[in-house]
Amino acid sequence: MRQETSEWRKAGRRAVETWIGRSRPDAERWVRARLSRGRGPWCRRCGRSTTAMRAVEGGCQQCDAESAVLEGVVRVGAYAGGCAELVQSLKYGGWWELAKPLGRRLGWALRAQLGAGLACEVVVVPMPSTLRRRLKRGFNPAGLIADAAAIEMRAVRARLLWRSHGRAQAGRSRSARLAMTARGWHVYPRARKLLRGRSVILIDDVLTTGRSVRIAGGFLQRAGAASVQVGVVAVTENKKASFDLIIPR
Ligand SMILES: [Zn+2]
Repeated sequence: MRQETSEWRKAGRRAVETWIGRSRPDAERWVRARLSRGRGPWCRRCGRSTTAMRAVEGGCQQCDAESAVLEGVVRVGAYAGGCAELVQSLKYGGWWELAKPLGRRLGWALRAQLGAGLACEVVVVPMPSTLRRRLKRGFNPAGLIADAAAIEMRAVRARLLWRSHGRAQAGRSRSARLAMTARGWHVYPRARKLLRGRSVILIDDVLTTGRSVRIAGGFLQRAGAASVQVGVVAVTENKKASFDLIIPR
């Protein structure tokens, strides 16, 4: 009987997939296969790949105190190969189911970095997307990743920031991105009460220049956060060459 039920369930899922015109493989398995290699050590200060040998004074040789991204970066991988493919499928391919396995892995990385005791004390805050972009995409990738990461960390997840307007960064040059201002960013009033003296993990899908997370982190610090670290699925390595995103389909 149980077997029969599961057969029915499978048939139902196939029917739904046919109905919505797509059939996708299992997200968890897809992520596991693509993240099996190329996840070496990274610099906690700027987020880029490094080796322990080259790490200097809390950072790597590619960065200095000025290029530090808030109070440190925790990542799942570099924005290359399988990891980049996964992020692109999530963001531009509309494959939202990937957010859960990716967020879970980010949660593991954060827990390993912070220690289980501290990981459950932090406030997990997703990077906001504008309403326009959310309507177009149907979801906020950073929000779904933050949900899954917070569950793994047994931490509070709170949407504390929102954006009234703003233009997408992908495809823009580094200088154009850096010129973008903090206009259109807002903090919910409840942030002050929730953040006082707390450590925050700001979650995003990709870290490129770090411009947006610095703006967001600044708002959270002014709202009372004791520290703000960044948790991302992927970090771009060559910041100049990283803007030509390949959009599948
Ligand atoms: Zn570095």
